[in-house]
Amino acid sequence: MNRLEGNWWSEPCEEHGSAFSLKVKSRLHEEQTAFQKIEVYETEKFGNLMVIDGFVMLTSRDNFLYHEMMSHPALYTHPAPKRVLIIGGGDCGTLREVLRHSEVERALQVDIDEGVTRAAEKYFPELCESNDDPRAELHFADGIRWVKEAAPGSYDVIIVDSTDPIGPAEGLFGEPFYGDCHAALGEHGLLVQQSESPLYHMRLLGEIHRYMRKAGFADSHTLHFPQPVYPSGWWSATLARKDGPIEGFREADAANRPFATRYYSPEVHQGALALPPFMKEAFANL
Ligand code: SAM
Repeated sequence: MNRLEGNWWSEPCEEHGSAFSLKVKSRLHEEQTAFQKIEVYETEKFGNLMVIDGFVMLTSRDNFLYHEMMSHPALYTHPAPKRVLIIGGGDCGTLREVLRHSEVERALQVDIDEGVTRAAEKYFPELCESNDDPRAELHFADGIRWVKEAAPGSYDVIIVDSTDPIGPAEGLFGEPFYGDCHAALGEHGLLVQQSESPLYHMRLLGEIHRYMRKAGFADSHTLHFPQPVYPSGWWSATLARKDGPIEGFREADAANRPFATRYYSPEVHQGALALPPFMKEAFANL
């Protein structure tokens, strides 16, 4: 199946016999970097669309769902998140959400590909509006190596905002990487992994939990939320806590948050933690 046919750009998911399409007006950007192919399209109804190696990364219209759920649940679960590391996340949307938390003193974004951030600055400037915040640090390096070389206990929250587990992101879904994250996290430390679709990728989700537990995390839990432009339209983030349960978060702080959100709220946080029976069953014997 062609990715671009007439005015329609499509991402087929052969394994599940499905596809997602967006009507586009024009291609704004096309670049082969040392790591991947980056494209940006102007769509008819979803604003700009970023594609990496033929897979949807984000659109202007619905990225708030993903970016808010990758950041706020973890930051309101940790008692005092001061040092945050984002692995991947080159579009800077997660970084922007993290920096909304005034307790955060330092937020590092480590993406392997500078091209993603340069394209985001040009085509998604709203996501990059906090890049000049003095607490923000943008690094362009391999996240696997970055975490391996991190000083023990140097971060409170690590957010893995990666591409799918193929190519340069494959190692970001493995037990050795989670072991390095565990060592790099301090007391009460939290790891967040974008963990694909509950409908399409339950085997991978189970593996993520097993690897996190084997790597030493005391608890792990998947939150789920809609994400219309990703395969199946339903997505997840898996949280792992170094030394305690995931359930329970700073609900009063979340309710009185001094910034606006479009999807996240304490009620949504609580709801996202509730697992439907098929997920409960799959995670029963980790
Ligand atoms: N939300 C998106 C999704 O789930 O499809 C991911 C968005 S973000 C643009 C993903 C980023 O991960 C890309 O910019 C890519 O360069 C980065 N990435 C992939 N492998 C990496 C690695 N080993 N170290 C650091 N960044 C990596």
